[in-house]
Amino acid sequence: MYRNIVVLTGAGISAESGIKTFRDQNGLWEQHHIEDVATPEGYARDIDLVERFYNNRWTQLHSGDVQVNAAHVALAELEQQFSGNLLLITQNVDDLHERAGSKRLLHMHGELSKGRCPKSLQTFALREPFGPDNCCTCCIPAIRLRPHIVWFGEMPYGMDRIHDALDNCDLFIAIGTSGTVYPAAGFVDSANHHGAQTVEVNLQQPDRHSQFQYHFTGKAGDIVPKLVADILAGKTIGSESVA
Ligand SMILES: [Zn+2]
Repeated sequence: MYRNIVVLTGAGISAESGIKTFRDQNGLWEQHHIEDVATPEGYARDIDLVERFYNNRWTQLHSGDVQVNAAHVALAELEQQFSGNLLLITQNVDDLHERAGSKRLLHMHGELSKGRCPKSLQTFALREPFGPDNCCTCCIPAIRLRPHIVWFGEMPYGMDRIHDALDNCDLFIAIGTSGTVYPAAGFVDSANHHGAQTVEVNLQQPDRHSQFQYHFTGKAGDIVPKLVADILAGKTIGSESVA
């Protein structure tokens, strides 16, 4: 029986929903250099280019091609039915967890569907793509909203809350994110250190440096619903859980 669960989701769970990974083999993001579209300096140099880049992704997210999958739905059910504490952390900037019904959710890398006032840091739901007329309502004169996205060189959101939750959890599950790359690598260390059970779900075989105690290889949409069913049935996750 678990009392405090932390779940981290990464790009893998969104890929199963049709979200294109936007980093190609050459390290370019849709033909752009990362420093041009995902840094505060790139934004300062060319606001229009950065806005076009995020507007393209916003449009993809709101096209009919992207739908929640069974893993998103199972995690929303876990939130609704689990009697202990649950923190769902996502590295993804899409809103698929919200569409599936998750409410207690921390977007550590920001949200594609929000803009942010660069002065007050207040966020605003984005009902239309970015542009010169998409401004805050907190300042006079109003200021052009920037993407509510954590760029390279910026601090992820909610790190204090995340570390508090990891220090107190008895189960940590990472889904669709490499167990040896930051932040999952740091999170699993923390959870192991505090005696939690640690589980990773990935399409790829686990890296030999992975610190997770249990690995499930396959699609999140196949594996996560079974893990959630076990947790809600009061079972402990073991190597036989999803075999
Ligand atoms: Zn403002």
